[in-house]
Amino acid sequence: MKKLIAFFLFLILFVVGILYFSPAARSVVGIDPAPTIVGVQPLGDVPDSEIVAVINAVREMYDYQVVELKRQDLPEMAYTEIRYPRYRADSILTWLCDEAYQSAKPDSINIILSLTKADISITKYNKETGEIKDPEWKYKDFGIFGLGRIHGGVCVVSSHRLANGVSQKIFQKRLTRIACHEVGHVLGLRHCPVQQCLMNDANESIRTIDKSTGEICSACKKKID
Ligand SMILES: [Zn+2]
Ligand SMILES: [Zn+2]
Repeated sequence: MKKLIAFFLFLILFVVGILYFSPAARSVVGIDPAPTIVGVQPLGDVPDSEIVAVINAVREMYDYQVVELKRQDLPEMAYTEIRYPRYRADSILTWLCDEAYQSAKPDSINIILSLTKADISITKYNKETGEIKDPEWKYKDFGIFGLGRIHGGVCVVSSHRLANGVSQKIFQKRLTRIACHEVGHVLGLRHCPVQQCLMNDANESIRTIDKSTGEICSACKKKID
């Protein structure tokens, strides 16, 4: 009998040992999957102070490892002159998801947060009709603060629209909030109806971001825990 108990104890320790030391086994049984590591990707010339502020804010909010990636030029394929010379945010995300970019970055990084000083834009559609929002001249190429792909691993944040005569402190607050908001989208969060929540839709106004508490509400938090 004692031998049998000893055998079972050994077996339990053996299985626990395998689960503990083998990442593959851990992910199969659904415990402790690969850690989330965010790579901050400067596109073009981005001041170090902005990169550092974003790294610290994302690390603090989500408790993930956040690393800085080597600067790269903005992708030419995203450049547009539809209304103004600027870069299409959705094309930047497509470029970041592309094999060429993905295979060049370290495998361990599973979220890319790209930062740029350039103006970025998207086309805004009417949710009911599926057509370009009215007035079309304005919404076919509409300037935005940031864009994140839900569960898509990539997002982009632009500082272009954030510094209109405000102090460096407010500018940085805006930048870091938008960065954390876009990472929230990448983690699967959609816009939240709670006005003070960081995942509330900015609704085309920087004031929404200024008024936010900068925190994720408890309902949103539950969804990503
Ligand atoms: Zn959003
Ligand atoms: Zn929320």
